[in-house]
Amino acid sequence: MKLETLTVREGNYNLKDYDELSASFDWKEAENHFSWSETGKINIAYEAIDRHAESGLKQKVALYYRDADRNEKYTFEEMKEYTNKAANVLKTAGGVEKGDRVFIFMPRSPELYFAVLGAIKAGAIVGPLFEAFMEGAVRDRLADSSAKVLVTTPELIDRVPVNELPALEKVFIVGGSVPSEEKYVDFNAKMQEADTAFEIEWMNLEDGMMLHYTSGSTGKPKGVLHVHRAMVQQYMTAKWVLDLQGNDVYWCTADPGWVTGTSYGIFGPWLTGTTNVIVGGRFKPEAWYQTIEDYKVTVWYSAPTAFRMLMGAGDEVVKKFDLSSLRHIISVGEPLNPEVIRWGAKVFDRRIHDTWWMTETGAMVICNYPSMDIRPGSMGKPVPGVKAAIVDDQGNELPPNRMGNLAIKKGWPSMMVAIWNNPEKYESYFMPGGWYVSGDSAYMDEDGYFWFQGRVDDVIMTAGERVGPFEVESKLIEHPAVTEAGVIGKPDPVRGEIIKAFVALQEGYEPTEELKEDIRQFVKTGLAAHAAPREIEFRDKLPKTRSGKIMRRVLKAWELDLPTGDLSTMED
Ligand code: ATP
Ligand code: MG
Repeated sequence: MKLETLTVREGNYNLKDYDELSASFDWKEAENHFSWSETGKINIAYEAIDRHAESGLKQKVALYYRDADRNEKYTFEEMKEYTNKAANVLKTAGGVEKGDRVFIFMPRSPELYFAVLGAIKAGAIVGPLFEAFMEGAVRDRLADSSAKVLVTTPELIDRVPVNELPALEKVFIVGGSVPSEEKYVDFNAKMQEADTAFEIEWMNLEDGMMLHYTSGSTGKPKGVLHVHRAMVQQYMTAKWVLDLQGNDVYWCTADPGWVTGTSYGIFGPWLTGTTNVIVGGRFKPEAWYQTIEDYKVTVWYSAPTAFRMLMGAGDEVVKKFDLSSLRHIISVGEPLNPEVIRWGAKVFDRRIHDTWWMTETGAMVICNYPSMDIRPGSMGKPVPGVKAAIVDDQGNELPPNRMGNLAIKKGWPSMMVAIWNNPEKYESYFMPGGWYVSGDSAYMDEDGYFWFQGRVDDVIMTAGERVGPFEVESKLIEHPAVTEAGVIGKPDPVRGEIIKAFVALQEGYEPTEELKEDIRQFVKTGLAAHAAPREIEFRDKLPKTRSGKIMRRVLKAWELDLPTGDLSTMED
């Protein structure tokens, strides 16, 4: 089979020659970009905001914000003042001290960003929670982390079991009415009175900064702790992979409740002094394209689930908007199907660049760079300075084209430092040889491109063949009737496992037996006979996490009548 390649477009990219840089790069060089390399004092919020507010970028727009009711902008100087105010409020009215856990549970709004950065300025560890979480999910996370302070809204407070959380001392309410008990504080009222100057809490490189709970795709979400040092890799990848430059207008569609929404919705863009667009509200194709047109977005970071929904909305919708400002598109969160890349190339005249990383890695790890050829279906190559490999279960590196554990050499700058309250879990990520093992299965080709196959637990063994669910799913969605597909292995007495596909249909298609047969044949002739699903089941939609990932473990549990496990992050 001829390898499909999308070649580089000419451009003045930050990362000019991947091979040359990878051969020579040392993280020490990156540290020189930051003032702490001289002072030894660090605070990521200072580097993201104050440094620019004290420089020539002071009047530059840092944040454009809009939702159904608001339309606002803030310069770096204003961001410095508002985040200082928030730091003062959290410290004086909330008693926040260095190392305290401050949780933020609210829909996107400028106040959310002031609170996150203000808490970090005060030395706290911030735990952001996605607004759609219900009571059980909120309780688990606040209890596990012994959160001391919570910032939330009147609409969400009913989902916070305040009286069952002994560590929780103060609850800030943003906008609307505030309960009269002493525990509650009116955030906006305090913000109005607060001083615009704040003495930043200076931290060590290894002091905690963010506590992110994972997406819960494979089991109970884990509390992943990141430290201030993470900025080094967040900054460099914002340069190399997002390719952020002086005049860019950047839009990351992820919610800050997930790691993409902080590492690249807050830190990546602001560490590089980039104008950041933040949009509240729900996903609608027209509204998304309108955002790009209105703000003349140049760099856009989103996810396969969103690209698939846009693709499903049709090419006609794209034509109604002027998207000519777009110069660079990037994706993360799930495998990026080749079909989606081809579609992007057609309608946006741009390649979509896949990036692979996870909550635990804190920043991008394997990526497609704008100055590198893309092989659709491949996650790309490791970030310069990071060593990745495919290893067996004993930690031995495997040769090219062999499927195995995707692993990273310990010690990259944005690596997590702990799983909160669970040191055994933390230790379980590491293997002899200094490898961090991701839990994903992949292979590397002869040219060093990495190819995702599936979660290790999802890889299917059928009649002696190892089949990655991703390849089958990607082939399935190339069929015109299919919008989404989730593939699992189902135990079978003869074959070990058989492949079962759950499929959501494009509007206008009838779920018939003939269609099943047609889809099966399509995979058989397009991919391989052994990879064609023996069983296909049509579903209106697939079970997904609230961050948009297909939950194969839930499909499997339903299929086999097993307990479904933790469902706190599942969509309604
Ligand atoms: P949990 O760890 O709770 O089961 P999760 O692994 O989905 O949830 P995240 O940290 O949000 O939580 O997601 C990281 C995972 O997402 C990766 O391990 C990988 O399986 C998947 N992923 C992210 N980006 C990509 C990508 N570009 N290609 C393939 N898979 C990806
Ligand atoms: Mg995970």
